[in-house]
Formats: sequence, structure tokens, C-alpha cells
Amino acid sequence: ITAWETAEKTAQRLLGKSSLVLPHPEQCSIRKDLHQQCPRCQVTYCSAECRQAALEQYHQVLCLGPSRDDPTHPLNKLQEAWRNMHYPPETSSIMLMARMVATVKQAKDKEWWIKAFSQFCSKTANEEEEVVHKLLGDKFKGQLELLRLLFTEALYDEHLSRWFTPEGFRSLFALVGTNGQGIGTSSLSQWVHACDALDLPMLQREELDAFIDQLYKDIEKESGEFLNCEGSGLYVLQSCSNHSCIPNAETSFPENNFLLHLTALEDIEAGEEICISYLDCCQRERSRHSRNKILRENYLFTCSCPKCLAQADDADVTSDEEEEGEGETDDAELEDEMTDV
Ligand SMILES: [Zn+2]
Ligand SMILES: [Zn+2]
Ligand SMILES: [Zn+2]
Repeated sequence: ITAWETAEKTAQRLLGKSSLVLPHPEQCSIRKDLHQQCPRCQVTYCSAECRQAALEQYHQVLCLGPSRDDPTHPLNKLQEAWRNMHYPPETSSIMLMARMVATVKQAKDKEWWIKAFSQFCSKTANEEEEVVHKLLGDKFKGQLELLRLLFTEALYDEHLSRWFTPEGFRSLFALVGTNGQGIGTSSLSQWVHACDALDLPMLQREELDAFIDQLYKDIEKESGEFLNCEGSGLYVLQSCSNHSCIPNAETSFPENNFLLHLTALEDIEAGEEICISYLDCCQRERSRHSRNKILRENYLFTCSCPKCLAQADDADVTSDEEEEGEGETDDAELEDEMTDV
């Protein structure tokens, strides 16, 4: 996945301000001249290679053809229902699930794909419910059932009948919810990085930095936190990597495409476990209690990495930073303390 919207267009969309002009437009890496559309449905791809790869793997099933704008088409109904339920739609998307089904439908060797998908670790029924609750909110049961009905109408396949039952659909949803990895780097943050690297006279540098700071602030106000990814995908090896609050490896997308890099942060002995961090670097600096609260809520486990074990005797206090950051009420905090007990 490579961004295909220019940095300026992304900023305009996120700000709802079509008149916005970004300075240094030459620093935007988007190559419109390489873009390709599906001749039947006009979906845009970053390159001919991507269009071909999509066509061979799943797009024949998902191509809407002339029904692209038909709101009664089952796939459009599914996407519309999803948009109304879940914000932001960029991550753990229902369309990733649709691509999984379409991939199996289109594949000659269906069992190979079913086996590949089954490598993602499964959860208990209770854990799955927690994941779905987390993703859809309090009305999750009715919403999940609505999605299942629309998903079935759009994509049912007898080879995959178990993904369309209430239990199977919940499992699939939880699989994507827990293993879906945001992919790629938005053109806007690529532009920011390129601007950071520019060699500018001091005054111009200050001006540009101030512009970028303000831009991010405005975007956050207008669209909520800026999601620096272009879509979501599933990575078998990365999803096998456990979490540690002092990880010895990290994942990144340095080539601005779908290639995920797993990079060692220190020397790793043969046989030593490779751990990544599910927390960002700010979250990792919080107290053990705060870290584990985030991990429990989002990933349903309590961490017992060396750092957490070393801090096991620390008082169960939430770090100040989190209280400021999330503005939680005392009640919510109290409740959390109680579930700990
Ligand atoms: Zn592409
Ligand atoms: Zn198409
Ligand atoms: Zn830990």
C-alpha cells in the first residue's frame, strides 16, 4: 500500500479546507503519473503492479463494475453500514475481512489460504466479545449481527461457511481487530519528513516548523488524532511477536509500501525471544499500572516482561501523564483499581 493522495490533498481533506496550500510542494513524493485505475470500477491504484496484484488476488470478486455508485449494491451497503458504526474506518477495516473472503473465493488452492489465515492466534469467546465491544462500542451485539447479515449478502461462499455463522463471524472480526496492522506512511507525513530534512536559512526553517506544528494541531481539532497509515493488513510473523515494555525489536515501514521491517534494537542471541512493543514510546514511559491498563484494554493481557516484574512492587498508581492525557473521571479510575484487586 502506497499513498496515492498527495500530501496537500490529504491535508485539505482532513481539515475540510480545499483552499489550503502546502509550501514546498516538490517535497511530496506522490507520483500521479504512475497511478492506474481499474477499467471497470475506476478504483485507483498507486501503480500498474498493484492493480495487477489486486486483480489476481481478490479484485475480481470485489470489483463493483458499473455498480460503483449504486447504494443498493451489497458491498456498498456493507461499507456504508461500517462507516456509520466505526470511526476511524482506516484501521481494522471490514474491507480487510472482505478481501480475505475474496482471496479464498478467487484462489485455486483455497485450503492454502484458509490454513494461512488460521495461523493467527485465536481467542476465547469471551475475549472475542471484549475485542468486538472495544471496536464497536456498547451497541456491539446488534451491530455485529447487522454486519454479519450484510457481509453474508455480499460475499457468502460455501467453502467458508464457518466464517458466516454468528460465532465464526465474531472470530473473524476479532482476528482482524487484534492482528490488523496499520500499514504504510501517509503522504502527509512523508512530506513532513522531507521538509524536516531540507537545509533552510534559520528564519525560513522556523517559519516552516511553525506551519507544520499548526497544521497538525488543526488536523487534530478537525478530524481527531491523525492516523499515519494508509490501510490495514495481516502479517503472520509480526503477529507472532509478543509484547515487552523493553522490546528488543521494532516494526516499521521504511519503504513507504506494504513491506513491514522487523529490526533488532540490540544484539539478540540465538533462541532468545524476539519481542516488539505494542505501546508507543510515550506509553512505554508510563507507570507499570498505566501500561498494563492500556494493554488489558486493547490487547487483553497483563504484561510480565522484565521491566514490569521489576516494578511489580510499585504502588498501583496511574502516572500523572495519563490522568492529564485522558482526563478520566475518578470513578473510572476507581473502577479500574477495583478490577485489579
Ligand atoms: Zn500500491
Ligand atoms: Zn474494479
Ligand atoms: Zn511490561
